[in-house]
Amino acid sequence: MTGDPRRRVPRTDGLLAEPRLAAAAATLGRDRVRAAVRAAQDRARRGEITPEDVRDVALAALPAPAPRVVLNATGVVLHTNLGRAPLSPAAVAAVVAAAGHTDVELDLRTGRRARRGRDALDALAAAVPDAGAVHVVNNGAAALVLAATALATGREIVVSRGELVEIGDGFRLPDLLESTGARLREVGTTNRTTLDDYAAAVGPGTGFVLKVHPSNFRITGFTAAVPVAALATLGVPVVADIGSGLLVADPLLPDEPDAASTLRAGAALVTASGDKLLGGPQAGLLLGAADLVRRLHRHPLARALRVDKLTLAALAATLADPATPTRAALHADAGLLRERTGRLRDALAADGCKAEVVPAVAVVGGGGAPGVDLDSWALSLPERYAEPLRTGDPPVLGRVARGRLLLDLRCVPADADATLRAAVLRVPGDG
Ligand SMILES: *Cc1c(COP(=O)(O)O)cnc(C)c1O
Repeated sequence: MTGDPRRRVPRTDGLLAEPRLAAAAATLGRDRVRAAVRAAQDRARRGEITPEDVRDVALAALPAPAPRVVLNATGVVLHTNLGRAPLSPAAVAAVVAAAGHTDVELDLRTGRRARRGRDALDALAAAVPDAGAVHVVNNGAAALVLAATALATGREIVVSRGELVEIGDGFRLPDLLESTGARLREVGTTNRTTLDDYAAAVGPGTGFVLKVHPSNFRITGFTAAVPVAALATLGVPVVADIGSGLLVADPLLPDEPDAASTLRAGAALVTASGDKLLGGPQAGLLLGAADLVRRLHRHPLARALRVDKLTLAALAATLADPATPTRAALHADAGLLRERTGRLRDALAADGCKAEVVPAVAVVGGGGAPGVDLDSWALSLPERYAEPLRTGDPPVLGRVARGRLLLDLRCVPADADATLRAAVLRVPGDG
């Protein structure tokens, strides 16, 4: 019915246009990639591999580019070790387009210098009308450093003991803030801090009150924290590090602060990351009162934290269309994930590989919303699959639990299921 498989061997031109092979051609040269494609096509014509596997076999014959592109089947939506948010196709296209000469700092109408990255800045300002002005730096930590340096060097930052966060890899916000020459004035206790605690510490030496969203942990039980609206009555600027980069509230994540609500509650300045829940490139977003933001962006340190034109292009594209892969992964329907995982199981079974579909719990990750469980489904395989999949091509990362390897499709692009299937089938069987 499908006829001779040799007729289904994909054509060379189509294969060379495929993104991963095209990327390999850009770094290794077209001739080398063409040779690998021809060899894989020949193997398919001899019936040694299926026509569907030609691309993967050609890729496997070429040296892997660095960094390696991996399949995130961990069920962790924002995995710091896997580069947090993957960019949307529109953002990727914008990065590629911006790689050459661009008008990043020039007004083409007047021929004069213009504010760097104004497309991204305008889009950010438009997305959060409550912000008087906005600025963008390299990452969330840089946004905090710039705020502390410009607004509190030689002065005090008043912060709750319950919000002195370690962000990861041994880096701690208190150390970061003190490295700017600001002094930390810790108030309250680990579990409880009241408005009176802040009020007693605020004085003429105060640079600002800092509110940090505990984005990677939760304290429950006998707790008290002071909301931004109450801190805003203290008569000093409130800087809120919301972490995740949600610009407006998301009903799926009710405890996750967003920039618009935080500014409306009275924060003078909000800082956030671009590559967490916003689903954009690594960047530090600063939104707030126009006079404060202006002080930040004219500060000498701002030049050292200046953001790359590729980042600005990706950020503008992300803001233009918030339907990012991160958003899709967060909001993926559990029923549809179950069906998709079932189809993968059936396809594997047809090739003699036995796997199960099991309920699983996905999480947002270090990028935000600790304690939020996302109902999910996973393909369950024996644990021995974990290492060959991780070291294979493409590397597939799953989660090991109770002697099983769980592959959660929530963060795997839908068009990568065939690639995942082929990767699982390449793991040698028992015996
Ligand atoms: C992630 C995070 C940071 C650090 O942001 P980066 O973009 O990783 O530099 C700072 N504060 C909070 C609350 C965070 O969640």
